[in-house]
Amino acid sequence: MREYTPEEVGVALIKANAAQTKWAALSKHDRADVLARWAGLLREKADELATLVMREVGKTFADARKEVLRSAEYIEYTNHEYLHQDLVTMPGDNYSRDYRNKMAMVQRTPLGLVLAISPFNYPVNLSISKISPALVTGNAVIFKPATQGALSGAMVADLLYEAGLDRDLMPVITGRGSVIGDALTSHPLIDMISFTGSTDVGKHISQLAGAVPLVLEMGGKDAALILDADKVEAAVDEIVKGGFGYSAQRCTAIKRIIVLDDLYPAVAAGLTEKVGELTVGSPEDDAVIVPLISEQSADFVEGLIQDALQKGAKALCGGGRKGNLIEPTVLTDITKEMRIYYEEPFGPVVPILSVRDVQEAIETANDSPYGLQCSIFHSDIDKALAIANHIEVGSVQINGRTERGPDNLPFLGVKNSGFGVQGGSPSI
Ligand code: NAP
Repeated sequence: MREYTPEEVGVALIKANAAQTKWAALSKHDRADVLARWAGLLREKADELATLVMREVGKTFADARKEVLRSAEYIEYTNHEYLHQDLVTMPGDNYSRDYRNKMAMVQRTPLGLVLAISPFNYPVNLSISKISPALVTGNAVIFKPATQGALSGAMVADLLYEAGLDRDLMPVITGRGSVIGDALTSHPLIDMISFTGSTDVGKHISQLAGAVPLVLEMGGKDAALILDADKVEAAVDEIVKGGFGYSAQRCTAIKRIIVLDDLYPAVAAGLTEKVGELTVGSPEDDAVIVPLISEQSADFVEGLIQDALQKGAKALCGGGRKGNLIEPTVLTDITKEMRIYYEEPFGPVVPILSVRDVQEAIETANDSPYGLQCSIFHSDIDKALAIANHIEVGSVQINGRTERGPDNLPFLGVKNSGFGVQGGSPSI
């Protein structure tokens, strides 16, 4: 895919600005119709798009197909949400004097040009979840897909043009973010930025963006807290699915396991057994553990494992590497001096930390620069809810793995995991 020059970026933005005025003048229904046709085409072409996603970003066909279909549903859900939102009126009241003869009419108007920057790991869903609410509400979208993921992003856009969208209204700006990103994020025509990706890039964007609204969905270090003997088996099952699927290249993969001391032996034994059963190989063979997206990513994850082993950690399983394939690895005897304690691997390695009591479990979960999600495994729902209130994250899952979705629910991070909320209604 070719790299846009800063001059070409400027031209595309000027054209999008002109197209947005016409798009915003359409009725809500006319805009929603185009997006509904897009959802239909995504369903029709689900196999073709899923094959492209599988080949481009190395996830299994089944996962890629689910990603396409959930995105089609999300477009329809967003349309319905938007079409049901009506003008709000508010009566005035007594505030220092009698304002009861005043009334406000609250109307939603488009912002203008929304810059949508998506990451490589969900090139369809994390693009559509930005594009669909921005377009239906009358904005233009400047779509910057991840370089690894740009072919899938381009097909998503082509289907939207086929559904009837003016190409100028949503240019696909390709090129490496490190080269063309600053020209985009600091451009005066941009009215909002919705970014999903790493914390370093998100923070860089927020420094350049100036006074435009930002939604930043960034990295995570999600913890699973196992606090009850009755939930050990279920927790191990969920952690293996949530911590290792797609080689853990998910923002909400479980990236730390925090377990009460007396439950540690059962958790360690269960994990060693189940992680040992994971299939390792190619996404085309439906393997759970697949090569990481790049050699650089594999080097980074291997570096985290080596650093921990050199500082005294032990591998309950895994620890090795072949090309970009990192063996599924569970590390124990972890200390705060090890990089794996704080850093996000984005690869299949999970440390286990054992703690004396619930209080220490909460403190350990919160001892992180990140705050995306957390899982609590406990059979007493009241206790689980009480603990959830003390965890510094955007969402807590009780007796289930951390994950984004269903897409209509609010999704957000705190601390270095981001700010702003995505999901059906909040995105609108
Ligand atoms: P990334 O390297 O930060 O890239 C994300 C996007 O930003 C890509 O489109 C990238 O383009 C672009 N970019 C890079 N530098 C830029 C710049 N200076 N200005 C503007 N855009 C720039 O992240 P990734 O490796 O694709 O994804 C993995 C990270 O995303 C992990 O940290 C993960 O936790 C996070 N993530 C978070 C969520 C969430 O919802 N919280 C969801 C998924 C992933 P290029 O590809 O061309 O570099």
